[in-house]
Amino acid sequence: MSRLACPHCGHKENRAREYMPTEDAHRRQRQCLGCDKRFWTEERIIPLNEPQPSLHKYRKQFAKKKPTVSTYTAIHNALFKGEDR
Ligand SMILES: [Zn+2]
Repeated sequence: MSRLACPHCGHKENRAREYMPTEDAHRRQRQCLGCDKRFWTEERIIPLNEPQPSLHKYRKQFAKKKPTVSTYTAIHNALFKGEDR
């Protein structure tokens, strides 16, 4: 189960169906528990020349709150647009 929003309907619950490792990423096919449609998620290594997330900042600001869609946006902005790492 992940809390990623379905790209078809925005539902937050889904389950993993298939797992497909590729050379540079691990991909999972997920099925939405809201609309039953399928979509893929990907886990990959972030190259060192791309902005690295700040775990410290994440923990300080968000780790104890229950995440909402706007929290996720705020997390992304804080992690990828921050200066200190
Ligand atoms: Zn859906």
